[in-house]
Amino acid sequence: MTERIPFVSRQIPAVLNHTRQYDQFLYVYPVISRRSQGLSLGINLNPDKRCNFDCIYCEVDRRTPPRTTRVDPGRLREELVALIRLVQAGRLEADPRFRTAPHLLRDIRDLAFSGDGEPTMIAGFAESVQTVAEVKMAEGLDSTKIVLITNAAGLDKADVRRGLEILDAHQGEIWGKLDAGTEAYYRRINRSHVRLDRILSNLLEAARVRPIVIQSLFLRVHGEAMPADELAAYCDRLEELAGAGGRVREVQAYTVARPTPEAFATRLEPGELDAVAATIRERTGLAVHVFP
Ligand code: SF4
Repeated sequence: MTERIPFVSRQIPAVLNHTRQYDQFLYVYPVISRRSQGLSLGINLNPDKRCNFDCIYCEVDRRTPPRTTRVDPGRLREELVALIRLVQAGRLEADPRFRTAPHLLRDIRDLAFSGDGEPTMIAGFAESVQTVAEVKMAEGLDSTKIVLITNAAGLDKADVRRGLEILDAHQGEIWGKLDAGTEAYYRRINRSHVRLDRILSNLLEAARVRPIVIQSLFLRVHGEAMPADELAAYCDRLEELAGAGGRVREVQAYTVARPTPEAFATRLEPGELDAVAATIRERTGLAVHVFP
């Protein structure tokens, strides 16, 4: 079963700065996110920049050395508390990087595990989720979501499953990546040693327990958009998820927003992305929200 949510993302102004380093914080950063429909506080559990995918569109700068290679739960807690209080005191409003969105700066829409790598890869994932949940409760952010943005490769790990249970108890959501319908295209786009079968199995297991969001990036590779047969296979995978008891709350379809290190990975035009979304809606019946 799918649920539908209002589509208001085009009203959110463009993000001025997507840097994952804010002042002296190592693990947290504020960002105006169209997909969060407002202010999101990002939590970077991968300051070491490690990922088990190597997406051709990845914007993480892995040429510069990391400032740290491990997550210190105590410091993560302190930084998140400090950032929440900084937001609530209105201090983001004085930051020129946020000047296009002053009306969005007091309402924290979500706390999002979204960093320079794959959050489910770290040891102590559940401990980090628990830390964030405790801060959220202590700071009175009762209705604020906690979002896990993940490539799904680690969702089957015991520690990660414990973390998902904590998420479930604290307005948690899983936003899982799916950019392909076949192993061959997945390898071309995501360049991972993890098999697509495992990604799909992990998405299904997660979606059987709670509704999840699927995030899919569509782009041109050497000038070629996703072929029609690949898009059909992608829709097949979504239908298989639903057919096996997985609940997909929505699909978020987006494209490359900024120039990528791989010059051959380029954006779709808004009309092209709308056409892809229409095909997905028609084939699967799912709610599809477009972020051009
Ligand atoms: S999963 Fe995310 S962090 Fe990892 S390579 Fe892909 S875009 Fe980059």
